[in-house]
Amino acid sequence: MQVQDWVQTWVGAQSSADAAPDGTGETRAAVDPAAEAEVHAARSRLEEAVGELGDRLVATGCPLPLRLSNSTITNVDRCDGLAVARAGGSGVDPNWPMLRGRALDSYVQHVLIAGRVGDPVEDLRSMWMADELDETLAALDDHLTSDAREDLESDLSLLAAEAATLAPLAQLMPRLEQRLEVTIGGVLALPGRVDVLLGGAGTGAPSVLLEVKSSALRSEHMTQVRHYGLLQALREGRPPLAAGVWSPGVGVTDVPLTNTFGSSAERVVGSLVRTSALWEGAPVGLNPGSHCRFCPEVDRCPEGMTFAEGSGDADHDDGSDW
Ligand code: SF4
Repeated sequence: MQVQDWVQTWVGAQSSADAAPDGTGETRAAVDPAAEAEVHAARSRLEEAVGELGDRLVATGCPLPLRLSNSTITNVDRCDGLAVARAGGSGVDPNWPMLRGRALDSYVQHVLIAGRVGDPVEDLRSMWMADELDETLAALDDHLTSDAREDLESDLSLLAAEAATLAPLAQLMPRLEQRLEVTIGGVLALPGRVDVLLGGAGTGAPSVLLEVKSSALRSEHMTQVRHYGLLQALREGRPPLAAGVWSPGVGVTDVPLTNTFGSSAERVVGSLVRTSALWEGAPVGLNPGSHCRFCPEVDRCPEGMTFAEGSGDADHDDGSDW
């Protein structure tokens, strides 16, 4: 679906929503009571898990609240070793797929704030300089002084042109890189940051989430958007009106949220349980896979080295919450 169509779809949904004041001075969309009940059940499940594990976490000396971002949860799902390495602050040098993902995010912000990207390389440099992304900028310059320079600059130009197709969203007063943090019982913090948020608290309109992805749509992107949908639902006490992933050349893919809050909450609980066990001294399990290619331990981990050698160099992102 193209952005313009998606915008019209959700604007239409808003205009047909129940405009009766809900006591907050804001309009309130007609929400399926079953969906609201699902949000409440998800919160109860998280509170229950925190109630069971809170004291155990305190006993381990774990700094509270324990912060589980979507990428942290994904890492725990993939491999204990990866999760522990990332929790220790180890990163990996940004490769081109990572850089182009961050570049696309920056182009989208530029399009929605300033209107258009003039020079894809120089505008990107300016944005990253302003944000003090020194290491990312250095990695970009390394790539752009390589033999592949022309191809990479052409790639950035294409990304900037694709980002320009999101311009219709500017008329809807989007909030960019919107923080969605939720804290449960002072024990568990769930930070999140969605690329584009339409509506939401203070706007009088129900919220709509849009995540920008530079690579082909994958299941983990859908999982990430569902997770952000859960966070926004917990913040507002009701489900967002809509959510989607936008990718260059694809447009917007809707991510239905109905009947997903329970499974998203269980994913968080599973990560909380495993992280608590690791803090209590459980053996760190190794689970090699494609994620080894962006694991800080790959040069030291025998399991990972074997997998990385035989797995080629296919495109990927590292699952970070950029
Ligand atoms: S290299 Fe692979 S198996 Fe080893 S710790 Fe990292 S992700 Fe796990």
